[in-house]
Amino acid sequence: NWDSLVTLSAKPRDPNNGFSVLVTGAAGFVGSHVSLALKKRGDGVVGIDNFNKYYDPSLKRARTDMLERAGIFVVEADINDSELLERLLSVVQFSHVMHLAAQAGVRYAMKNPASYVHSNLAGLINILEACKSANPQPAVVWASSSSVYGLNSKVPFSEKDRTDQPASLYAATKKAGEEIAHSYNHIYGLSITGLRFFTVYGPWGRPDMAYFSFTKDILKRKKITIFKGPNNGYVARDFTYIDDIVSGCLAALDTAEKSTGSGGKKLGPAQLRVFNLGNTSPVPVTELVSILEKLLKMKARKDVLPMPSNGDVMFTHANISSAQRELGYKPTTELKVGLMKFVKWYLDYYVHSKKNIAW
Ligand code: NAD
Repeated sequence: NWDSLVTLSAKPRDPNNGFSVLVTGAAGFVGSHVSLALKKRGDGVVGIDNFNKYYDPSLKRARTDMLERAGIFVVEADINDSELLERLLSVVQFSHVMHLAAQAGVRYAMKNPASYVHSNLAGLINILEACKSANPQPAVVWASSSSVYGLNSKVPFSEKDRTDQPASLYAATKKAGEEIAHSYNHIYGLSITGLRFFTVYGPWGRPDMAYFSFTKDILKRKKITIFKGPNNGYVARDFTYIDDIVSGCLAALDTAEKSTGSGGKKLGPAQLRVFNLGNTSPVPVTELVSILEKLLKMKARKDVLPMPSNGDVMFTHANISSAQRELGYKPTTELKVGLMKFVKWYLDYYVHSKKNIAW
């Protein structure tokens, strides 16, 4: 039955030494990798995901099949289902919640703003409500985003820089999430760590992201669009490989202090942190394309257009000194190497139709 599946999945290999982690967005790109890494090192993991149709749900199913083969139970539910969350958190005393469920994507916010409010605002609040009421309260680590730096032109972005100029509704919901986290920490004693991820890429990635859609279009000989900014510079991103992000997430869980509240009451001051998780080496999109061309042994057909006002920023670049100092975070994967792994996965999964690729 449901309760025993959840309990079994949440149990760490060594009950005296290991976490029980609830991972939201477990069928997603980052969530599936983090879940598997936790399970592999012996932690107990329960996933939750609503398998929304923002991108191909069959990819989310394939990731989930892999998690299930590793012994991770993924509950199919929306994080706005407060009764279900309450039940989950009463069946298992989770030590941590890794909250990765969100409506991602910058441009889609212009088409469907309501889904950002639903998942990134209401959903986040619902997760924090469930955590604050739990007894004991789990420590929360959640995904914010580099997009909070918005139209800030000072690079590299450091956690102390201003974040009051979001360029998209997506960015605004992540920024609001950080303020919401502050209030739950302050009022209820929840230990909360926000991680500002910088353009994460890698195997099992997200089809809406440029490196993924470029690969698909180059292989199909379809034209790709590259944007040029006002000073003739190209859009550049601090691409960060998934394994580096996963190690940052695990380090954030490992260093998270316990929450100080219980059953909705605060008993003392609690930890509140925010970290950049990036690669510290921005790469222009033109270089991304030329690496992909070499790996795919095909030339891209390009349209170069002026940068539209669609919520994307020109440049991202992380200063990671606080994550280095406090989490021991050290990204090690060069873009060329990470993209090689991505392309290998892409060809196996889509071209050779191997759906059960080992992780
Ligand atoms: P993803 O879309 O692959 O994963 C998110 C998962 O959450 C999806 O599987 C989706 O079905 C699920 N989800 C969304 N709304 C939900 C809801 N209301 N209830 C239950 N499940 C829901 O995205 P990702 O790239 O893995 O991103 C993970 C987190 O990292 C997100 O919070 C995202 O905003 C953040 N982030 C990602 C990047 C990146 O480059 N990938 C960069 C910055 C921040």
